[in-house]
Amino acid sequence: MELEPDTEAYLEYYARRPENLRIDETIRKLPGLLSPEAKEADTLGFASALGSFDLCEDLGAFVEANTGVEKVALDPGRASRFLKELARYYGALDVGITRLEPYHIYSILGRKERRGKAGRLSHSFALAFTVEMNRRFIAAAPAVPVVMESSKQYANAALIALQLKNFIARLGYDARAHIDGNYHVIAPLVARDAGLGEIGRMGLLMTPSQGPRVRISIVSTDLPLIPDERVGDSSMIRFCRICKRCAENCPSRAISFSDREQLDGAYRWKINMDSCFRYWNIVGTDCGRCLAVCPYSHPNTGLHKLIRILLRRAPLLHYPFLWLETIFYGRKPVQGPLPNWIPPETG
Ligand code: SF4
Ligand code: SF4
Repeated sequence: MELEPDTEAYLEYYARRPENLRIDETIRKLPGLLSPEAKEADTLGFASALGSFDLCEDLGAFVEANTGVEKVALDPGRASRFLKELARYYGALDVGITRLEPYHIYSILGRKERRGKAGRLSHSFALAFTVEMNRRFIAAAPAVPVVMESSKQYANAALIALQLKNFIARLGYDARAHIDGNYHVIAPLVARDAGLGEIGRMGLLMTPSQGPRVRISIVSTDLPLIPDERVGDSSMIRFCRICKRCAENCPSRAISFSDREQLDGAYRWKINMDSCFRYWNIVGTDCGRCLAVCPYSHPNTGLHKLIRILLRRAPLLHYPFLWLETIFYGRKPVQGPLPNWIPPETG
């Protein structure tokens, strides 16, 4: 989307990837994300989202640790415990640590001056954390509250990640905050391997308590840490096999109804990202209807907690629970009341 027609970068890219030219040109002609011409355009709501995204952009200048401090010798167990609790103290919800693997790193980076460069990291460990997205705002998807909330939580996650990166730098170790628009790592994969959840049908991280209704940030570092053991939750994948609510509700038909396939050496679902992104550029928001309808996105209250425990322990209950989901919530996202200043008046 950043490439200007007839520039050297444009010609070089499409000489290498001619198969992308047609769909990219189609998308370029659409109103665009947060555009005043987009279908869900709302002056105040879009300004709020742009303000949060601008903050993430500004914070991009500070993602690398800049430390001249001598390294403090630390017990990895103590450092790991403190770092995870500190992340929670700063506002993170679920937190985990993993060893960084080559498949976590983007082979090619995107956006701005990083575009086209290979992702590189000398770090051995990564801390992954989530922040929760407000259910009522997400339920309005694809209308403007969804992008107000996602942008706000990207910014919140970025602020937490930067504080953690600074904390590590103060101990004399190298660290990098991976925040919206400025990742060297594939955040959902790192978060999955740090034990935070599974990658579901819609291709996003799903945590046991909030499902896909989270944003993720990562802090990578050379500070020696103790990785969390990834237990894995096969019940989520089994439930995704029969549920398919996200696929039914996706306005762009980007989500597959089929079973997982072996892709790049792993069994997974892969969404049609061109269809999804095309729809974003029509409505002007990041849509999120798949997040809104997912049964795992329900609030983590007593009853839902109990159901999630039973889903993990008793696969035979998956069909009855899906039936109950339909009875109580229907097959579409359930919209609740929003604060009375939402959606903001246009103009
Ligand atoms: S809506 Fe259903 S199929 Fe889609 S990710 Fe959620 S649980 Fe899986
Ligand atoms: S964000 Fe919207 S268009 Fe994209 S996959 Fe989810 S429901 Fe489909």
